[in-house]
Amino acid sequence: MSMSFLFTFTIIISFGLCILYASAELQRLSHSSKHDGALSFLVLGDWGRRGAYNQSQVSFQMGKVGEKLDIDFVVSTGDNFYDNGLTSDHDNAFQESFTQIYTAKSLQKQWYSVLGNHDYRGDAEAQLSPVLREIDSRWLCLRSFIVDSELVEIFFVDTTPFVEEYFTEPQEHKYDWRGIGPQKPYITNLLKDLELALRESTAKWKIVVGHHAIRSVGHHGDTQELINQLLPILQANNIDFYMNGHDHCLEHISDTERGTCLQPHSVPD
Ligand SMILES: [Zn+2]
Repeated sequence: MSMSFLFTFTIIISFGLCILYASAELQRLSHSSKHDGALSFLVLGDWGRRGAYNQSQVSFQMGKVGEKLDIDFVVSTGDNFYDNGLTSDHDNAFQESFTQIYTAKSLQKQWYSVLGNHDYRGDAEAQLSPVLREIDSRWLCLRSFIVDSELVEIFFVDTTPFVEEYFTEPQEHKYDWRGIGPQKPYITNLLKDLELALRESTAKWKIVVGHHAIRSVGHHGDTQELINQLLPILQANNIDFYMNGHDHCLEHISDTERGTCLQPHSVPD
């Protein structure tokens, strides 16, 4: 089973250049819009298959849509490399599933990525390594961070460590929790940092990206830990929508009371 999915989002905003700087809490990256104030990007997830499972076909279509929209960047919602992430920052899967697949001219832009549960089954830190950026400068993967485009702020959240069963019932899988430390303080600190950043945000559009669905009618269903711990923070801070991967089906879920959109996007093959 599986696939790749693709979602397009276009919004009008202001200004210019890509600058990297760190805040005391979540790392913040600045990515300005085009001179005419427009910002366009593609969102995909669950993709790294060395071209198989329709990955190459989806990439081809992304190239066409990316050109039409003149995209500014690409967002990846995780499960970047199947089945078990990367083995190291010299794993050929990086080139075979990323560099050699997304070759269209329009896709030669910055990619902002988070980790998915499959990525944690390999060397998770390899995907965060600057070595990958030396191999392909488009790549930028962090655990949790912010992309700030003035009127739009995108908050990337590392959702895999929220899921209890990966710790308590990993079955045959081995998860790479290096860099996380004990689960509870990691989650507590992440939520505290996220809440502060959301509260202080003056962006017109606030978008949150994570790997796991909060609500879903797909195969994996709801992620109860995110309903309990993440959703109240998103609702309290009036985010416009949440985007994720993990469940390989296309869904658009709205909270009719609050207007928040909880929307996984994917297309099964
Ligand atoms: Zn997943």
